[in-house]
Amino acid sequence: MVRAKENTDHMITVDDLIALVRAYNPKANCERISQAYAFGEKMHQGQYRHSGDTYFSHPAAVAAILTQQRLDDATIITALLHDTIEDTKASFVEIEALFGSEVATLVDGVTKLTNLQLSSHQTEQAENFRKLFIAMSRDLRVILVKLADRLHNMRTIRSILLEKQINKSRETMEIYAPLAGRMGMQWMREELEDLAFRVLNPDARKSIIRRFIRLQRDSGDIIQRISGDMQTELERAKIKAEVFGRAKKPYSIWRKMNQKELGFSRLSDIYGFRIITSSEEDCYATLGTIHRRWRAVPGRFKDYISQPKSNGYRSIHTTVSGTDGKRVEVQIRSQAMHDVAETGVAAHWSYRDGVRVKNPFAVEPEQWISSLTEQFEGRDDHDEFLEAVKLEMYSDKVFCFSPKGDVIKLPRGATPIDFAYAIHTRIGSAIVGAKVDGLRVPLWTRLKNGQSVEIISAEGQTPQRSWLDVATTGKARTSIRRALRERDRGRFIRLGRELARAGFEHVGRRATEKALSISAKHLGLENHEVLLERLGSAEITTHDVIQAVYPDILPSDQDEISPRRAVIGLQHGQSFERARCCGPLPGERIVGISHRGKGVVVHAIDCDLLGEYEDQPNRWVDLNWHEGTHPPIYSTTLEITISNGSGVLGRICTLIGEKQANISDLRFIDRKPDFFRMLIDVELRDVEQLLSLMVTLEADSDVAALDRYRQAATSSQTLS
Ligand code: MN
Repeated sequence: MVRAKENTDHMITVDDLIALVRAYNPKANCERISQAYAFGEKMHQGQYRHSGDTYFSHPAAVAAILTQQRLDDATIITALLHDTIEDTKASFVEIEALFGSEVATLVDGVTKLTNLQLSSHQTEQAENFRKLFIAMSRDLRVILVKLADRLHNMRTIRSILLEKQINKSRETMEIYAPLAGRMGMQWMREELEDLAFRVLNPDARKSIIRRFIRLQRDSGDIIQRISGDMQTELERAKIKAEVFGRAKKPYSIWRKMNQKELGFSRLSDIYGFRIITSSEEDCYATLGTIHRRWRAVPGRFKDYISQPKSNGYRSIHTTVSGTDGKRVEVQIRSQAMHDVAETGVAAHWSYRDGVRVKNPFAVEPEQWISSLTEQFEGRDDHDEFLEAVKLEMYSDKVFCFSPKGDVIKLPRGATPIDFAYAIHTRIGSAIVGAKVDGLRVPLWTRLKNGQSVEIISAEGQTPQRSWLDVATTGKARTSIRRALRERDRGRFIRLGRELARAGFEHVGRRATEKALSISAKHLGLENHEVLLERLGSAEITTHDVIQAVYPDILPSDQDEISPRRAVIGLQHGQSFERARCCGPLPGERIVGISHRGKGVVVHAIDCDLLGEYEDQPNRWVDLNWHEGTHPPIYSTTLEITISNGSGVLGRICTLIGEKQANISDLRFIDRKPDFFRMLIDVELRDVEQLLSLMVTLEADSDVAALDRYRQAATSSQTLS
């Protein structure tokens, strides 16, 4: 394939190309193709390939490759223009104006794939890249052009530096060849593999070719002989079919030899035969004829006609052995099946005799990707199953690029914050802005496939609570939370200390460091500081802490009314829930609303939501709270604004503790330099305890505002 400098003899001319297209599509718009050819040639004027050829010989050759798959005008034109946006002054807008938006979008898609810089960790990333290619190319014709582009570059790879040859060949082996296979173009897969093999392992390839030549010399033209025999058998059976024999590519032979550690003698690994029939019935008739004449090798028969592959591939595969014990592989399929087998998913866009082929076996490209995600369970096609699972996984992923060209895989909906944390926690924590494809974007921007993302960071930046609303990945969220807790640690510890002191005093004990350490140990926490921190951040309760040291000291609740019997007026066996909207406490006037399947929901008599049930009197249930002592388990939320002075929060918590109310959660909703506004969930016995608590709190000079917080939700809270 080495070409002489200045040699342009191989150039596919516009007439050559049009002749190739006309052969399968006489109605092709030759004028548009000529126009694209002229435009591309003009744009690339003065550019040369490493081989010395004019640059435009490359796009012309790519277009010619695609005529083999008999593709539509748009794809051929895209091939001619595929490098113009990237390498010439032509723009998307210009191409759109001249050739329409279909072609412009396709060219743009190819340009995006070209711009993917494969990183140095290609092997780990190969699967990501293959997924990315499909994910990015909503129109699979983009991949067809890209594959043809790579095929031509591989065919002419000898003119570039050896180091680059090796890189390109690895890429081809890892990404492009499997991609061609996945799309159902076996011939392209084999050729790409073999071209790469030639660069990556020239000695192995030469040795296989040498042995191959020796075999041919020893046993004559085996292909001719076996094809002839098969043809004769078929004629005798009056089946109209054509037999084709071929030697497999050196790489295929080498791979099989490596896989099975077999010698070179197995013909089935070297030669392949293909019988093309005119109908599906003839496929089975042919199979019968072949099996009658030669012995079928057990375990080698596969019927992809009744069970086609997801890319539309249909064929019968069998291996037979002759009297000499030599085995050969035979594939049997009809012409229409063969077209799909050669063209894969591209068959959808193929033309034959001037019309878009309505090949019954071609797959719909849109359905192809989703069909790949179908279950392959129960099939022995394990690889295909794995591929399908992997594909399924990426439908909810986006793939973006770092400035270095690394692929970062993120869940769909991810933002620059997730991206930054995916690169490094340090970068995530310091993010102040982001550029997507070179433009500044807000941090809540949802990233899309193929975008390149640049993170702008600044020293001194720390994670913000608001980031939790826009971060989607576990890594980002965990890191942000950890940083926030770290920052608030000192305050939480102080608060925890106050809570512990009040709690222990309440039961006549002291919250000594020793007591707290014992408690921490029982609760599985590292030390007493961690315990105080968790207590202060409401991750554990005072009750938990005390119980861990003095299991028997907390008041028993024998005389208390069981929560199940807390309300009077229910029918036997009827369950009830406390409405979340108003959260009535024992002692308050209540009414029940019956819900099918959910029991009775208990509302405060003045709850706004009751208006909704005004016209359904049969659902109302008269209820009263039990008069006895209720356990302190009825959660109520207080909205409180306190001044930000030292010890204020601790004192508030002490006050709550002194009123024998347990704090179950504590959330800051606003943090101004002078004031904290927060929600405190307390667990209470009844409304009397609530009122007493509120009076106490309001009397404190540092409490600026206090209210019972009732959320306007319709959902209910379950008591159990
Ligand atoms: Mn190219």
